[in-house]
Amino acid sequence: MYDYVIIGAGIIGTMIARELSRYYVKAIVLEKENDVANVQTLANSAIIHSGHNPTPGTLRAKLNVLGNGLYNDLERELDIPLLRCGAFVVAHNEAEEKQLDELCETAKANGMLDFVILDYSEAVKTEPNLSKTVTKVLSLPTTKVTYPWEVAFACMENAIKNGVKFRKNALVTKISYLKDRYIVEVNENENIETINVINAAGVDSDDIAALIEQEKPFTIKGRKGEYFVLDRRVKDFLNHVLYPLPTASGKGVLLTPQYHGNILVGPNSQYVEDKHKTDVSFDGLDYVREHANSLADNIPYNKIIRSFAGIRASSDYDDFYIKESARYKGLYHLGGIDSPGLSAAPAIAKYLVEELIDAPNKYEKNDNFNPYRHKNPEFHTLTMEKRMEMLKHNPTYGNIVCKCELITEKEIVDAINGPLGSDTIKGIKKRTRAGAGLCQGGYCEEKIMKLIAREKHLSPLEISYDSLESKLFVSETKVRK
Ligand SMILES: Cc1cc2nc3c(=O)[nH]c(=O)nc-3n(C[C@H](O)[C@H](O)[C@H](O)COP(=O)(O)OP(=O)(O)OC[C@H]3O[C@@H](n4cnc5c(N)ncnc54)[C@H](O)[C@@H]3O)c2cc1C
Repeated sequence: MYDYVIIGAGIIGTMIARELSRYYVKAIVLEKENDVANVQTLANSAIIHSGHNPTPGTLRAKLNVLGNGLYNDLERELDIPLLRCGAFVVAHNEAEEKQLDELCETAKANGMLDFVILDYSEAVKTEPNLSKTVTKVLSLPTTKVTYPWEVAFACMENAIKNGVKFRKNALVTKISYLKDRYIVEVNENENIETINVINAAGVDSDDIAALIEQEKPFTIKGRKGEYFVLDRRVKDFLNHVLYPLPTASGKGVLLTPQYHGNILVGPNSQYVEDKHKTDVSFDGLDYVREHANSLADNIPYNKIIRSFAGIRASSDYDDFYIKESARYKGLYHLGGIDSPGLSAAPAIAKYLVEELIDAPNKYEKNDNFNPYRHKNPEFHTLTMEKRMEMLKHNPTYGNIVCKCELITEKEIVDAINGPLGSDTIKGIKKRTRAGAGLCQGGYCEEKIMKLIAREKHLSPLEISYDSLESKLFVSETKVRK
């Protein structure tokens, strides 16, 4: 019997798992995908927003500002990537400048201390490609960029180290309540007993609620965002996140520097019927391109290496929906956690565990809780001296498997066998960036497949790109006698 079943291993489920592991509770995270961070947490802008635009007084505003601050602790404890780039919200004329002033009032009301309006002439000194049509900017120095998958891995690894269990390929199919406990059915063929259930299922959180609630407390309306990714070799083109003025449909099309040097152009914002379909469209990408041009001049579109889309878990409730069920004790729903959910995630986890669950008064503190997790360094970023020393101890650092991102055999083998290891091509890409460069895996995927086969004693026929159904090969074409 578990104390907590957490449904979903996105940034919200993994942060909650780590937060709960500070106490003596028995918890398990169930994830339907073949990896952590495979849905919303996979496809977003990666920005830790400062909290300049959510409506004052909402949970969204409060948890965004708190979460932004908490990322500094997470960097120290979990060794997660943070790019302290800051952001500019741009205005092009007097009417928009007035809106910048209003945004300052919102920022102040949300408790932000650090923001300032700059003239174009000052802003362009630190952002040389800022569009010449810009007249003023609102500078937000506390805006940061992270690498969301890495944050989710770090939280899950740390939670596992502190006693939480994790199961992937575990689709929750039914939830029943038996007076003092819940029976959570997994993959239609297994039952898990638990005293409490936490629904952190992102775009599926309303469907999870509907498995047990008579009336859905909220309905998710999928909102798609499409992007271009520019190669990391254009890193110097952009220094800050560039935002247009926000509108009713969100923060708009942005230019965002990424931690590893790529630049994201996007997203748009389009409500969709199918909240699981993450295809990109010509119309969507045209819209992105047209709107990004008002932020910067001469965007290097000739350096596009891919496009992608993510679906926001927007809801019909006008705020983050974070509540205990009105009918079922110990059942908690986290719904409508769209942007700025990544930014707010550490504060959402604390709010749930400390305030709603009241864990500090309900459970004994876990004396063995260790908040730290260390990541292996990225080999190609080390000094030549350090690299030579590491090579002496392990010559497989000398075999560069991904030539675009300079990822070595040793790093890939560590990712296969690590504490939250993976045996899929996409899993290794998420953990090491092998395949995330200019050739998008054209050169290295076959080599990675062979390393997975070697390390896991698998036939190539058993290896998947991502889900268990996405096998790389159908059959052998020639059989060696
Ligand atoms: C285009 C876009 C841009 C964004 N940009 C930003 C940004 O820059 N900054 C920011 O702060 N926020 C941003 N966000 C929002 C942010 O990405 C999300 O708020 C955050 O990732 C939500 O995390 P989650 O864990 O709730 O959801 P998810 O990451 O989707 O995780 C939910 C998990 O539940 C699992 N699940 C679902 N059903 C079941 C089931 N039946 N059984 C088991 N598991 C199940 C899913 O597989 C999934 O892994 C953006 C979102 C999008 C889509």
